[in-house]
Amino acid sequence: MSQATLHTPTVRTTCPYCAVQCTFDLHLDRGLPVKVTPTKDCPVAHGTVCRKGLAALNDLRHPDRLTTPLLRKNGDLTPVGWDEALAYVRDALGSVPPERTGVFGSGSLTNEKTYLLGKFARVALRTPHIDYNGRYCMASASAALNRTVGYDRGLGFPADDLVRSDLVLLVGANVAETLPPLMQYLKGVKDRGGTIYAIDPRATTTSRVAGRHLAPKPGTDGLLALGLLHLMKQWGRIRPTAPAHGMAQVLAHADDYPPARVAHDCGLSEADVFALGRAYAEARTSLILTGRGPEQHIQGTDTVQAWLNLAFLTGHFGKVGGGYGPLTGQGNGQGGREHGQKNDQLPGARSLRDPRHRAEIAALWDVPERDLPQPGHSAQELLNACGQPGAGGLDALIVLGSNPAVSAAGTGQVTQNLKALKHLIVIDFLPSETAGLATLVLPGSMWCEEEGTTTNLEGRVQRRRRAVTPPGAAREDWRILCDLAAALGRPHGFTYPDFRALQDEFFRATRGARADYSGLSAERLDRATAQWPVRSAAGPDTPHVYAPPFPTPDGLATLHVPQLRAPASAPRALHLTTGRLAGQYQSGTQTRRNPALKAEQTVQIHPDTAREHGLGAGDLVTLRTAHGQATAPVALSPGLRRDTVFISFHWPESANLLTDPDALDPHSRMPGFKVTPVTLHPARLTLPVPTAPLLSPVS
Ligand code: SF4
Repeated sequence: MSQATLHTPTVRTTCPYCAVQCTFDLHLDRGLPVKVTPTKDCPVAHGTVCRKGLAALNDLRHPDRLTTPLLRKNGDLTPVGWDEALAYVRDALGSVPPERTGVFGSGSLTNEKTYLLGKFARVALRTPHIDYNGRYCMASASAALNRTVGYDRGLGFPADDLVRSDLVLLVGANVAETLPPLMQYLKGVKDRGGTIYAIDPRATTTSRVAGRHLAPKPGTDGLLALGLLHLMKQWGRIRPTAPAHGMAQVLAHADDYPPARVAHDCGLSEADVFALGRAYAEARTSLILTGRGPEQHIQGTDTVQAWLNLAFLTGHFGKVGGGYGPLTGQGNGQGGREHGQKNDQLPGARSLRDPRHRAEIAALWDVPERDLPQPGHSAQELLNACGQPGAGGLDALIVLGSNPAVSAAGTGQVTQNLKALKHLIVIDFLPSETAGLATLVLPGSMWCEEEGTTTNLEGRVQRRRRAVTPPGAAREDWRILCDLAAALGRPHGFTYPDFRALQDEFFRATRGARADYSGLSAERLDRATAQWPVRSAAGPDTPHVYAPPFPTPDGLATLHVPQLRAPASAPRALHLTTGRLAGQYQSGTQTRRNPALKAEQTVQIHPDTAREHGLGAGDLVTLRTAHGQATAPVALSPGLRRDTVFISFHWPESANLLTDPDALDPHSRMPGFKVTPVTLHPARLTLPVPTAPLLSPVS
C-alpha cells in the first residue's frame, strides 16, 4: 500500500460516497489532488469505481465551497471570524437548557467523528437528543437484525462470498445504479449457472442484468416473504439454521399466507409466486439481499423480519453464499450506526439503557454515570420537535454533515420547524438547503481533508487518509467539535493533542462491545483492512459473524412474527415511491453541483398511466399527497408498474414535500418513504425533456 502522508504524489483513501467504500489513489500536483485511480487491491471493488467516485474531486474546490464562518446578521448570512462565531455558540447554547438542544449527525461521517459527536452531545451539551440521517436509511434492517441475532453488521460475510450463491433475491435493491461494483459478483453468480431475481416495482438496470424480475406493489415485499415461507413449510423445506425462540409462532403465522392471497395482495400472478418459491426451495445456497425498498416503510422492520425469518428457517442464514444481508447505502452507513450518534446508543453499539454499558463509557469519559442522559428523540421526532414550545420541544440544533431540509420526511413541515429554532448551527463544507436556514454556518472538512476510518457494507474497516488541508478558514470537523466544547466551557475530554489521540480513544471505547474495534490501529489498517469484531491487536478479524451462539442473553436467536398489511390506498390514488438515481447521492448537496453528474428531476410514470392522465413525456405534472405537492416534468417509464409513480429524492422542494413526517415504524422509527398515496394533476407548461427516463426501462 502506498504511503499516506501529506505532499506525496499519491495518497490512498476511500470514496466519499456509497457504502462499497472503493479505495482509490489520489494523484497530487503541487499539493492538490488532480486525478483518481481505482486500486486493484480494493477488497470489494477490485479496481472498479463508478462515475460518482471518479468525479468526486470536482467538489473539492467548488466555487460554492464554504471557507469562512457565516453568522446571520440582519437576516443575511455574513462572513465572520472564528472568534465571533464561537462567541455566538457560547452565548446561544449557554442560554438554552440542555434538554432543549438537539444534535443531528450523518451516516457519511467517519467512525471517529461519529464517536466524537455522540460524546460531544452527551458530555459537552448534556442533551439526550442526538440522532442522525441513517435513521432514514438502514434503521429497519438494523432493528430486525439486532432483535433477532443481537448483531447488526450489514453483510455478515465478505463480498467475495456473493459469487457462491446459487440464488440471489435482490429485494428493493437497485445494485447496478447504487452500488455498481457489486454487479461483478452478480455476474459471477450467473456465470456459475446461478439465478438472480430482482424484486422491485420498477424495472431497472439491475433487473435487466438479473434476468428475472418480479414487480410487487410498493410496500408488499414482506407479504411475498410470508408467502414463500408458507410454501417452504408446505413443501417440507423447513430446516432452521439453529434452535431459536419464536419459530413455532412464526411458522404458524405463515399458514395465513397461501399463494393466492399473497399474489392478490402483492399484485403478482400466482404462477410468479410459485416459480419464485420453487427456485428458493431448490437452490443449495439462497441469499436474500435487501435495499431501501423493503426497509423505508412504517412497517420496514417487520418487512425485513419476514425475509430474515425465511432465511433462518430454511437453514440458509449463516451458510457461506446464503442467508440474509442488507446492502448499506451511505459511505459510512455501517460505522455511523455503531458508535454513539443514535439516540439510544453508546460506542461499540452499546445500549444507553444498559447500566453496565453506561458505566463502561462513563469511566472512559471520566464523568459520573448518572450524568449520561437517557435516550432522546429519534431523527424524525427530533426534527418534528424543532421550534416547538412545551415539553420535548427544541430551541437549538447542531447539524453536522447532513441536510434534513431535503432528506427528512415531510420537508415542508421540517423546514418550518428549522426556521422556528432560535439557533440552528450547521457544520458543512458546501451550502446545503439546511445551511441556508442556519443562524450560524461553520465551514468543515471534506473527505480527503481529514484522517479517519470508515466501515463498509460488509463491516470492513478501512483508513480514510488526508491528502490536503481544508481551504481558507475551514477546519477539520473533529477540531470544530472540540472548539465548540471549549466555547461552552466544557473542554474536559475534548483537548486531543492530535487526531491520533482521538482515534486511539475511539478504538479503546469499543473494547468488549459487540462492535469491537479495539484491536485496530492505523498501523494495522495500513497492513490490511479488517472486518469487526477485532478484539485484540494480535488477534484475527471476523469475516463471518452471523453464526451461533449469537450475542444474546442465552446465545439463541429470537424470531418475531411480522405484523404486516398491504399499504393503504385512496380513491383514484397511485402509489408514490421514492429512491436514488445512479449519478446522485443523498440530498444532492455535492452531486447536484458536480458538472460531471448533471441530471434533472423527473417524475417516472408508466406510458399507459400517463396517457390516462392526459400526460406526455416532458409535460409538467403536479404530484399531490396528504402532506404536500411537488411539480416536475414527466419521464415515461414502461418498466414501472402502472399503479406506481417514482420520483428521486436528491432535489429540494420535491420528493420529501410529499412524504409523511409523522407516521413512523414502531421499532426503527423510520418514516414511510417508499409508499404514499398520490394523485397526478397536469400542470400548464411542457418542458423539453427526453422521453427516456433517467433509469433505463426494461421491456
Ligand atoms: Fe465506489 Fe460507491 Fe464511490 Fe461509486 S460511489 S466509487 S461505488 S464507493
